[in-house]
Amino acid sequence: MNCEGEELIEVMKLLYQRGLITVLSGNASLKCGEFFLITPSGVPKHKIKDLTRVNLKTLEWEGPKPSIEYRMHAQIYLNTDFQSVVHAHNPLTVALADVYAEDQFNELVSKYVETRYAISKVGVVERIDAGSLELAEAVGRKFSEGSDVVVMKGHGVIAGGRNPFDALNKVEAMEYLALVETARCGTSVRRQEVVYY
Ligand SMILES: [Zn+2]
Repeated sequence: MNCEGEELIEVMKLLYQRGLITVLSGNASLKCGEFFLITPSGVPKHKIKDLTRVNLKTLEWEGPKPSIEYRMHAQIYLNTDFQSVVHAHNPLTVALADVYAEDQFNELVSKYVETRYAISKVGVVERIDAGSLELAEAVGRKFSEGSDVVVMKGHGVIAGGRNPFDALNKVEAMEYLALVETARCGTSVRRQEVVYY
């Protein structure tokens, strides 16, 4: 496993260029044995140079101040075998999460090639404060139940993968799904009025 972290820096640039994060939002990490590397807090995402090293057990960190969501990344590594985690603020997915329930997301995932082969299971969590331990634990529970993508209402998407690009692909596949579904139905329809195949 490459533990240098260059791919995390590249992933953050791609997320910003695609409009899936704003310049100071989102984060990505890479597991390296008993530690993980994570993008820092407060640094413009297209200009990241240094990463933070966090101890998975003690959560002590070295380097620049880590993303406020470092506990969420730790919860995912502690509950799964994923090697990388990517978190973005996908606008259309966030919009869809206000009207679609978890089972509806999973039904949609199975209907499109882009998502069917990329995503195993989507979890949805309610609005919980960003950066809180409560959110980290709620997301960790969804991952422990088999989700590889979790949508946080009013916030964004977090995905686990074999490497940074696998996790990025899941984040992008979710936004693809939301774009297709928004084009097909719009998000202004009431849930019970959405027609499925
Ligand atoms: Zn966020």
